[in-house]
Amino acid sequence: MSKSDYDPSIDNEPQWRNEPAQTDPSEAAADRAQRHAGPRDTADDLASHSVFDEPDILPCRPPETIDRDWSCAECGYNLRGLVTGRRCPECGHVNIYRPPPPGVPSFSDLYRRKQEAVSSRRSWAYVLTVAVIGAFVATPAAMIAAVWIGLPFVGTVIVFVPVVQEAAKILPILLFVEIKPFLIKRGNQIWFAAMFTALLYAAGFNTMTTGFQMITKTPPLELLLWRWIGGTLLHVACTAVACSGVVAAWRRADDEARRPRLGNVTRSVLLAMMFHAAFNAMVFFWNAKDYAF
Ligand SMILES: [Zn+2]
Repeated sequence: MSKSDYDPSIDNEPQWRNEPAQTDPSEAAADRAQRHAGPRDTADDLASHSVFDEPDILPCRPPETIDRDWSCAECGYNLRGLVTGRRCPECGHVNIYRPPPPGVPSFSDLYRRKQEAVSSRRSWAYVLTVAVIGAFVATPAAMIAAVWIGLPFVGTVIVFVPVVQEAAKILPILLFVEIKPFLIKRGNQIWFAAMFTALLYAAGFNTMTTGFQMITKTPPLELLLWRWIGGTLLHVACTAVACSGVVAAWRRADDEARRPRLGNVTRSVLLAMMFHAAFNAMVFFWNAKDYAF
């Protein structure tokens, strides 16, 4: 609406004007998407925004017995057979989510439907794509880490480099599990993707650090071997620590067909970062900084 025909009077409301209502141009894209949406899109939309997946904080839903496996958000204890709204007998946490009633559109229903629809081969194709994209996405982090590791500051070697590297290696598969958990069929696929990304990442990082070192002088053979064998092992081991948390979160989500609770993954990612940082600190204080990764 231009400024000249702006009339705030009630007589100018669309229902009082004797002409067909005009669609707001800014809503045209949404309008088009709505028109072309098939029954499947509508069902998916309803299921992913279901009111039954909302936190259970209003008093209108009476307590009910949990009739399926349903883990406590705090400690993972199985609350099956207990009544909603009560404290977890294991840790005392009051859980604010309950299983949706059967037959209603919910994330649970969407999860099982989507997982059934994806074939095993397709699921592997998705996971492999994530692993390869993950390695490429992690490359800028490898470049930053390779430059930082050459700096003579303790903070970069034992804090920034391990944090950036561990975050970069686990992030792609973590995002995939968060956004499309139902495209994964088994926990082993997450292990595969994370290990694949870690290996490619280590190869990229080792190539860059070796390249940077060669600018000044040719590194001794034992340093090259250490970097390519020890470094690769450390990268894979640390990613395995972080990945164990992602797999556990996915398995729990998959058993119960609910959204993965990735808050619990923080602990394993932090552990991977600390493990890596401890290794670099040890090497740094040993006065062998070139041997840090
Ligand atoms: Zn608990």
